[in-house]
Amino acid sequence: MLRKWIVLAVVTILVSAPGDSRAVAGFAADVQRAAPAWDGTLRRVRVPVLMYHYVSYLPADADDIRRELTVTPDLFRAHLDYLKEQGYSTISFYDLDAALLSGSLLPPRPVILTFDDGYIDHYTTVFPALREYGFTGTFFIITALADANRADYVNWSQIREMADGGMSMESHTKNHVDLRGRDYDFLVYELLGSLESLAAYTGQTSHILSYPVGHYDEMTLQVVGQLPIWRAVTTQRGVLHTTDNRLEMPRLRINGGTGAAGLASLLNGN
Ligand SMILES: [Zn+2]
Repeated sequence: MLRKWIVLAVVTILVSAPGDSRAVAGFAADVQRAAPAWDGTLRRVRVPVLMYHYVSYLPADADDIRRELTVTPDLFRAHLDYLKEQGYSTISFYDLDAALLSGSLLPPRPVILTFDDGYIDHYTTVFPALREYGFTGTFFIITALADANRADYVNWSQIREMADGGMSMESHTKNHVDLRGRDYDFLVYELLGSLESLAAYTGQTSHILSYPVGHYDEMTLQVVGQLPIWRAVTTQRGVLHTTDNRLEMPRLRINGGTGAAGLASLLNGN
């Protein structure tokens, strides 16, 4: 005789801080206890962090690397359509940080959209598209390239406009060099220098870092930990964030071949 077992997954809500009676509406399944926060509560949050580079049409001479890093504007809009239709809400790393540290509520289906390197299409294509959809993004800026006022990268006045428009303008260091094997002074220059430039030009403080090419070592982590950097993202794949992985946060890589179906499987995977 066949017996069918129905297994009901019971998800326990453990995110609320002591004395906080609010329920975790709409996102209970993705929040669990993991590690201590300032209030002693252990939290883990599942938030997909999408990693984009170029959002543009490919130049005729595009090589394999450029193809890998480029999503066309049409495909990007298809991604935004999908996120909208599926009820995703874009949040910032500050929202995620607050959810982990103090148990503050996240909207249903939170997602963070990140854009590395400060290409000019982030201002000309991504910024208006995000505003049209009512979304926000986190842009990791190579501040020496903004200083250089190059036509192919966002400049400070564009960065200021994006910050004023509700986007998070964050650090991708000053010069986008490999941070491994560096000494203290070099790391402070690259990291703190970029945060100071962002604050000076946007009028807002920045506390989030993206490691250039995802590279870092123990010394990098030590110095980052001493600076006013609240969270740092890698290029490692994953969707879970805990109170103790604040400087090694995983992301989901988007490339030219990631269609809406590919996006869906990334968002729903591990
Ligand atoms: Zn980069």
